[in-house]
Amino acid sequence: AKAAGGNRFEFADAEADARAITRHGLTNALPAALERGEFFIEYQPLVHMRDGTVHGAEALVRWSHPQYGVLGPDRFIPLAERTGLIVPLGRWVLEEAVRQARVWQHEHGGAALRINVNLSPTQLHHPGLVADTVAVLEKSGLAPGALCLEVTESALIGADDELLEPLRRLAELGVDIALDDFGTGYSNLANLRRLPVSVLKLDRSFTRGMQQQPADPVDVKIVEGIVALAHSLELAVTVEGVETGAQAAQLRALGCDTAQGWYYARPGAPDRIHTLSLSDAVP
Ligand code: C2E
Ligand code: CA
Ligand code: CA
Ligand code: CA
Repeated sequence: AKAAGGNRFEFADAEADARAITRHGLTNALPAALERGEFFIEYQPLVHMRDGTVHGAEALVRWSHPQYGVLGPDRFIPLAERTGLIVPLGRWVLEEAVRQARVWQHEHGGAALRINVNLSPTQLHHPGLVADTVAVLEKSGLAPGALCLEVTESALIGADDELLEPLRRLAELGVDIALDDFGTGYSNLANLRRLPVSVLKLDRSFTRGMQQQPADPVDVKIVEGIVALAHSLELAVTVEGVETGAQAAQLRALGCDTAQGWYYARPGAPDRIHTLSLSDAVP
């Protein structure tokens, strides 16, 4: 048993080394990948729970790596964060997603399909955030109210006025700010009033307990409480990770406003957004 344990450790070490080498290689390859256009965006619809119509979509970046195939954001966003490449990469995602939102609007006869774009902490601290965002909106002609920037709750924990100022200015311009992964960041709930946010995105960990029925009663209570709190502060609630019809029905009954998840649609190519017949998915 000892020998096997030893082998396992050697194996684990080798694996850790391989991962470190891959991380190093991926980090170095990021700038050229951006230049060569190896990144692309998948879009996942956000659905009104009330009637199942599409509210908009979240832009989720992927890397089509020549050697490793398609890599998810968890593999490279942290690396891009650490090197600062997230700033030009994030700007590219914003520009491309906003351009796509305009295409959908034209195809839908001007209907205001919204676009959600993720912002990482480094982008929040970058002095060009407001100017870049305004420039992208003006160039595309997209109304600021059709853009929602998603900031994680943990990125705003302990945020001072200096950090919040750019978000306030964007909110004043009409851009929606969503608090992403809400509930995972252990933030001070009283702090919520200070933040220029209009949407809470409830993390998947809170909705998982409703995938099977009967639902986990504690999760039901928590979601009920968060929805009441959010609505009393005039914030909309988006739920993530809706995978089953039972879960959708329960979250809808609890008063959640919009939803996102595999039950409705997985992230995919932009042309899928308007071929989706989401009315079939109304719980
Ligand atoms: P997130 O913002 O919380 O995005 C939601 C994640 O949940 C996405 O993973 C999505 O594919 C996944 N998801 C959606 N519905 C379901 C479901 O029903 N069940 C399950 N199990 N998962 C579901 P993805 O695309 O791998 O993205 C992971 C994270 O990477 C995102 O989490 C976000 O934090 C980050 N990310 C993605 N794109 C960008 C970007 O352009 N910029 C930045 N800064 N971060 C990004
Ligand atoms: Ca997000
Ligand atoms: Ca999230
Ligand atoms: Ca999440």
